[in-house]
Amino acid sequence: MAEKRDYYEVLGVERQAGEEEVKKAYRQLARQYHPDVTKEDPKVAEERFKEISEAYEVLMDKQKRDLYDKYGHAGVNSQFQGGGFNWNDFTHQGDIRDIFGDMGFGGGSIFDMFFGGGRSRGPHQGQSLRYDLDITLEEAAEGITKEVNLPLTVKCEACKGTGSKSGKEGICQQCKGTGQVQRVERRGYSQFISVGACPKCGGTGKDIKDPCPECDGGWTRKRQKISLEIPKGVDTGMRLRVAGAGEPSTDGGPPGDLYVVVNVRDHKVFKRDGADLYTTQEISFPEAALGATIDVPTLGGKKAEVPIPAGTQPGDVQRLKGLGMPRMEGHGKGDLYIRLKLVVPKKLTAEQKDLLRKFDGDGAKKRLFGRNKG
Ligand SMILES: [Zn+2]
Ligand SMILES: [Zn+2]
Repeated sequence: MAEKRDYYEVLGVERQAGEEEVKKAYRQLARQYHPDVTKEDPKVAEERFKEISEAYEVLMDKQKRDLYDKYGHAGVNSQFQGGGFNWNDFTHQGDIRDIFGDMGFGGGSIFDMFFGGGRSRGPHQGQSLRYDLDITLEEAAEGITKEVNLPLTVKCEACKGTGSKSGKEGICQQCKGTGQVQRVERRGYSQFISVGACPKCGGTGKDIKDPCPECDGGWTRKRQKISLEIPKGVDTGMRLRVAGAGEPSTDGGPPGDLYVVVNVRDHKVFKRDGADLYTTQEISFPEAALGATIDVPTLGGKKAEVPIPAGTQPGDVQRLKGLGMPRMEGHGKGDLYIRLKLVVPKKLTAEQKDLLRKFDGDGAKKRLFGRNKG
């Protein structure tokens, strides 16, 4: 196989290109290489279309783009199911529909080829599903098992999935049982041939005279319990694939997959950046000036002792090694950074004021700032 090209080069954009530029470049190239509209050799066009779509997927996703910028292809390959990009990893189907929608392709068969398996080769894999899962930062740190109830399409029990009340089924006359019909359409000077589901039988190839009252063509929606294993260290935007947990195939193919898209909620105390955590801790002027040991919260509720050296300045940062999030790639944990915020008291007793004036009159200002009077 030829060596993989640089994603920026593939889309012909600068490394610092913003989302709009990337989008524009992809739009242009997609119009040029989409296998159903291209003037190129279809085999070549299909490869090129996949290549630009992979580049688009990475450059539009901050996390993937950062990994790519840092580590190149090796950095992002692990983000894709199966260690490399395939169409199941593509999350911008909507954009393709937008691009070609105004050319008269309203979804349908043109996309099936990419997102539902082969175009005219059967059987087809069932549709993949997306499930958005919100978890807390603590859950992301520990890893969890979540039980979810998803409405999935399953075979109707009443008719055993035949869709017929009596269980008898004939063959659809329009498609002769294949479930597919060819359409020839003219657009301007060009002629397009597309293969789509038969409108009469909905792609089943069957002709049912006495439909089952309990279902729609043998399929019905039912809530199914699915157990999701969320590994520790997950971050917002990561996708987990549960193979075979998507929609069933309507023509005997394998079921689709379920993609769980993780969103880690913001935390009251900690901000996260990759494997590192950040928090702010207030300290007093005497603690900063004289030094102290303070307790700070860590993720999970335990307190950690942090030494404040004498002469600490407002905004100084202390690092606690290994008290951040678990790393998904590699080993160990990130660090916890504590920004020290100096709090100036708003109320002072007469005695405290006296002490501060004494400190000030003691030549403190001259020593600190080289001046006598403020
Ligand atoms: Zn039924
Ligand atoms: Zn038919």
